[in-house]
Amino acid sequence: MAKKQQARRSKTAPSPENGEQAMIEGILEGSPDAVGVAVIRLDCGCRKMAAVSLSGEPASKVIMYRDNAQSICDQCKDDQGNFRRVVKQFISWKTPEPDQPTMAMILAKVLGS
Ligand SMILES: [Zn+2]
Repeated sequence: MAKKQQARRSKTAPSPENGEQAMIEGILEGSPDAVGVAVIRLDCGCRKMAAVSLSGEPASKVIMYRDNAQSICDQCKDDQGNFRRVVKQFISWKTPEPDQPTMAMILAKVLGS
């Protein structure tokens, strides 16, 4: 948790954490149409992720997971990661990234405004 500052790769998007990065790569591998992966962090520590296509549509099913755990927490099992518990959400783009207007359109469509 403490080494995040130095590992920053982009000044516009938050860097995924190590566990997230592994998941993102796995999701991208299984989703040839994806241009990125939406990452949603919940207040309980669980994560929700889904690949997104160039048109801002889902390109995979939504995956929920919890770092270093066999399964998501009981609260998430209960509410499927209700949006009210979201603490951070962003898209981790596949390289090469789409152009700025496309990224903005996808962000608005996927994460809302
Ligand atoms: Zn949870």
